[in-house]
Amino acid sequence: MNHNVLLVYPPIDPEYYMKGANDSPPLGLVVLQNYVKRHLGIKVEIDIIDGEYYSIFEIIQMIKTKKYTMIGLQSMMASYNNSLILLEIAKKNGMVTFMGGHHATQLCDAILKNRNHIVDYVIEGDGEEAFAGLVQCKEIESIPNLAYFENGIVKHNLQKNVPLEYGIVDYIEPKVFEQYRRDIGRDLERTEKLISFRAYSHKGCSNRTNSQYCFFCGRADRGVRFKKPSDYVRELKYLSGLPNVKYIFEIGDDFLQDEEWLNQVVELLRKDPLPEHVHLKIFARANRITESIIPILKELNVDEVAIGFESGSQKILDNINKRATPQDNIEAAKLLFSNGIDTIASFVLGLPGEDEDTLQETYDAALTVKELAWEYLHKNPQEIIANIIEINPGAPAFRKLAKFMPEKYSGKDKLDLYETQNDYFKMEFNLKNDEEVKIFRKKLVEWGNKINNLGNYTYPAGFKSEEVAGN
Ligand code: SF4
Repeated sequence: MNHNVLLVYPPIDPEYYMKGANDSPPLGLVVLQNYVKRHLGIKVEIDIIDGEYYSIFEIIQMIKTKKYTMIGLQSMMASYNNSLILLEIAKKNGMVTFMGGHHATQLCDAILKNRNHIVDYVIEGDGEEAFAGLVQCKEIESIPNLAYFENGIVKHNLQKNVPLEYGIVDYIEPKVFEQYRRDIGRDLERTEKLISFRAYSHKGCSNRTNSQYCFFCGRADRGVRFKKPSDYVRELKYLSGLPNVKYIFEIGDDFLQDEEWLNQVVELLRKDPLPEHVHLKIFARANRITESIIPILKELNVDEVAIGFESGSQKILDNINKRATPQDNIEAAKLLFSNGIDTIASFVLGLPGEDEDTLQETYDAALTVKELAWEYLHKNPQEIIANIIEINPGAPAFRKLAKFMPEKYSGKDKLDLYETQNDYFKMEFNLKNDEEVKIFRKKLVEWGNKINNLGNYTYPAGFKSEEVAGN
């Protein structure tokens, strides 16, 4: 059978809609398309639809009117209801259905047990080979990283990491770009369309190989893997050569963690540099921002570094085993600003131990970042972000909650973001009733909005639409 595939990054559910939007194609889906069509040379039609640019109604229309035979969704907690709607309709239209990504991987068993009438497969972890196996209609048992429901149980095929060179983004189909030219009336971080693209140098996080990783993190990576320097540089060259591109946002969690890898990338770019007008934005840990790394950042034309401050309170950083002090974070920001590099400080509100004092400390830290930006760059930081903690499946916070309320959370796939947060607040802060939860949440929202107002742009997570000031 020749499949005609629709890959969808579903629209966020209406109650979590944010005015901000991202105009970089969903990389996880582009990787699947490239692997199957370019790497394996399989002749198959694949459309990629970004739900930030299409409404749920438009996507439903596509499912009903176009001749798709298979649909794959990369869902998140805040888009799960919309994902289920799309899957329901796809199934009614006789399509093969699958889900993938961190969220689906973490909830694999629950999804397949509870939704096997509309979900045929979940791809756990890397999706390239699993997706290729599905479009080639291979024997289901032979397809790695595939899980499915059979004879009343969830079956998991062999699980493996796929070589990162299978997922190089050195090409994006022109029709994928087309959707980003639509006028959707939302705020873009860079205001102009299609000038900023995402890339990732590595998968996984060194924190997650320790027994203690971030309390709120629900990523499902296995180990830390970097792309070959030459592959990564090839991607950067491709992206920086796209018309109008001015920024590449490197979304790998800790870009500076492997010095040898970094030096090889720098060496390659010395021989064949990126255009001067293309800047890089990276994620890094505060402890890696040292005097000696600054020349490398300059050479790579990095002009923004995002650092997970998480909180301005030492008590909270200790509670979540973050091996950094608020002062370390500020010092890193100062070093960056004083060298002409902007710092994106990212905070999470509602972590264990949060109270009025810690919220004030976090606000003060954010304000210090803003003041440093003015002192050295004479402008606002491009971005300061305060998220409200999300209780992501797979995260230590979620496991704690599921233990606390097993009847409500064990084996469940449909988890409401707002409700899980509020249950977590009840548990973590010993709140007696809904009224106390409401008051606590209101505090987080107020401080969150205050912090988010300090930078030029913000795209915070964990809020309901109506809670975000100006949304
Ligand atoms: S949130 Fe924490 S554990 Fe998760 S990827 Fe980032 S640093 Fe690693």
